Amino acid sequence: MQLYDTLTRGKQELPPTPGPIRMYTCGPTVYQRIHIGNARPFVISMWLRRWLAERGYDVNLVENITDVNDKIYNAAPGHSAELAAQASQWYLDDTERLGLGRPDHEPKATETIPEIVALIEELVRGEFAYEARGDVYFRVARFPEYGRLSGQRPEQLEDDDPSPLKEDPRDFALWKATKEGEDTSWDSPWGRGRPGWHIECSAMAEKFLGPSFEIHLGGLDLVFPHHENERAQSQAAGREFARLWMHNGMLEFVGEKMSKSLGNVASLHDVIEQWGRETILVFFLTGHWSKPIDFSDETLAAAAARVEGFREVFRGPSESGPAGAWERFEAALEDDFNTPDALAVMHGWRDHELLRRALDIFGLASLAEEQDAPPKVVELAKQRQEARAARDFDEADRLRAEIEAAGWEARDVADGFQLVPR
Ligand SMILES: [Zn+2]
Repeated sequence: MQLYDTLTRGKQELPPTPGPIRMYTCGPTVYQRIHIGNARPFVISMWLRRWLAERGYDVNLVENITDVNDKIYNAAPGHSAELAAQASQWYLDDTERLGLGRPDHEPKATETIPEIVALIEELVRGEFAYEARGDVYFRVARFPEYGRLSGQRPEQLEDDDPSPLKEDPRDFALWKATKEGEDTSWDSPWGRGRPGWHIECSAMAEKFLGPSFEIHLGGLDLVFPHHENERAQSQAAGREFARLWMHNGMLEFVGEKMSKSLGNVASLHDVIEQWGRETILVFFLTGHWSKPIDFSDETLAAAAARVEGFREVFRGPSESGPAGAWERFEAALEDDFNTPDALAVMHGWRDHELLRRALDIFGLASLAEEQDAPPKVVELAKQRQEARAARDFDEADRLRAEIEAAGWEARDVADGFQLVPR
């Protein structure tokens, strides 16, 4: 199987089965309900995990939760720990509703402090980092590879977190001394403080996957500085770290990058409430993971129509698929996990067993299960059938309208009737 790798700017072959395939995905910073854009890396990671397992790989997926961060301090001054605990639970509840299962490990940054401190100490000992009044900074000048992942040249880099304590404006914080108003802090060789964002991921990946692993995944907005910095820290400390870097494309909201700062907030929770999990999953299938995807009422409605199309296949008789159907489906996924191509291959399938097997990879086997109509509607359908048998077509029409008002459609089939949700 091949996947596109940001570092080498080309497709890379995965090792042969059974691997192992060790994967790390950057999870959310928890300070509010996650937005629909944050669901994309979770969905892609879980699908890829399911597909690799289906192919016979031994997969270990880690997706972290960043529960200490400036965003959380700013969102709840003096109460950041409570907010982070609440928002972690929202994240777990909302992603659970996608019906894709869970990653193998979901570590929290606040539960990984000893490992983070130990890694920073190692970097300080190797002179890759330095202490300055309780802060610790990574010394970018000591890592000549810096900028290779993101393709940025050192002289182009802007300082997004200026501080007079830095030796060089490109340096970034590994540890931050506690500031006034921050309600969480931990002991360290440099005094009370808390970790920087980037070092958390380096430490959590290593804790669960070891010093080298096959795949690192995250949103395209994380390439710089987050992933560039993760890589610099871990490689400076002598670890191989990630071998392949996958970056998913962003959700575009009416043509603009969906960002909370623009006020375009659509939480995963609200989108599930409005459209249901199956429509959201099919929506994500329609876009290649590495490309941007348009999020709008139109694209969601199109996904809902496809969901109904799949349900419709299972209402009809099963017909065996065209020769080589599964092989074509497999080939689409093996070539850079191309879900839109896989979806196109599945389009004409009427073979129930084949279609259910493919849908199951994406958490959509539920589309093969017909929803049961409530007893009241079944009773109306029976009365309608009797009215038709007695050639009382006015009564049959009246009953049909009543069934439709209850949200169902009565269809006449050879051995009676079939009730289908409208
Ligand atoms: Zn990360």
